[in-house]
Amino acid sequence: MTDCGCDKAKAELEEFLHRELSDDDFRDVSEHLESCVDCETEATVGLTLMQKVRSACQEKAPEELREAILARLSAHA
Ligand SMILES: [Zn+2]
Repeated sequence: MTDCGCDKAKAELEEFLHRELSDDDFRDVSEHLESCVDCETEATVGLTLMQKVRSACQEKAPEELREAILARLSAHA
């Protein structure tokens, strides 16, 4: 297995976390993360941040969604 190296892994980490890489690049970066603690830590931090942002949005969404649905229902009533 050829290690793609820290430079490539760090350059593509953002796209890796968003699953925007091609299959080949995705495999390269995940293989590197498995063998490099430094990059794996960065990936974990990035992933945790992404999940925090996402869950913060989801906490807010149901209330707004409910209001949007109620508004639509009353408009058609
Ligand atoms: Zn690395």
